Amino acid sequence: MDCLFCKIIKREIPADIVYEDDEVLAFNDIDPKAPTHQLIVPKRHIATLNDIEEDDLALVGRLQFTAARLAREAGFADDGYRVVMNCNEQGGQTVYHIHMHLMGGRRFTWPAG
Ligand code: 5GP
Repeated sequence: MDCLFCKIIKREIPADIVYEDDEVLAFNDIDPKAPTHQLIVPKRHIATLNDIEEDDLALVGRLQFTAARLAREAGFADDGYRVVMNCNEQGGQTVYHIHMHLMGGRRFTWPAG
């Protein structure tokens, strides 16, 4: 399968990995939009948020749980941070393997652009 994040998971493309367990991988975004910008991805390929099934609910919860863990490790959990999941073209998705953006270390505005 020609999926960028599957290749990172299989170590076919290098990435700066910050967390790994049996189900999840997290690595620094190559084009950071904040002092800390990490991507948290399931190891199993799921193309978009629309493809999540009931059996995946724990896995999606693990993405969020991992984001909070990484925010604590980075030291900005109490100050606050932003998590984002983009879906499909108008939502800004460019890599079709679901991922949670964890961004911290600066103040964010709302609404997002
Ligand atoms: P999306 O736009 O799909 O929500 O987010 C995709 C993210 O993947 C972007 O923030 C982009 O900078 C990041 N990205 C694209 N290619 C690579 C890559 O080869 N390595 C890493 N670490 N991040 C990438």
